[in-house]
Amino acid sequence: MYEHNGVGLAGPQVGVAKRIFVALETRKDEAKDDDRPPPQTIEEKRERWGVVGEHVIINPILSSFEGQAYDVEGCLSIPALYFEEVERSYSLHIRYQDANGETHERLAKGHFARVIQHETDHLDGILFLDRLTAEDKRQFMNENRQALAEMQREAKAFLKNIKEQIQPVKVA
Ligand SMILES: [Zn+2]
Repeated sequence: MYEHNGVGLAGPQVGVAKRIFVALETRKDEAKDDDRPPPQTIEEKRERWGVVGEHVIINPILSSFEGQAYDVEGCLSIPALYFEEVERSYSLHIRYQDANGETHERLAKGHFARVIQHETDHLDGILFLDRLTAEDKRQFMNENRQALAEMQREAKAFLKNIKEQIQPVKVA
């Protein structure tokens, strides 16, 4: 996730069909762009992104959505494609379990609330593109037609390649 500059990653994105994701809580809302070269190491990224929490979130239940916020979103499942103005709720209440099975309840707002909504959507098979208005989605598709076609070619090649490696299962 850090390697590809992601701030969240959900189980289904890496072949884990469980209601689990990891999410960074950052002070990005207050962060300002600067002229330094992009951070390289995980430590540099933590510092630059203002990471204040690295959460493992299991079985999330979201409620009490409030407000509207618009910000840029991308997704590690469709690398390097972004949309500038994705609408999300500004704040929400989340109930979840951590990796130790302990239950937590808290309010999340701003960027962290956005990450939680994006990752929870992955657990329900929803991509941020599905959250765009029809007009915005058309714009996104037009702007990224070539990159999307390339991804489709790669996905097909991957499936074809893996097909050749699939072995029959011997049953005793
Ligand atoms: Zn994503």
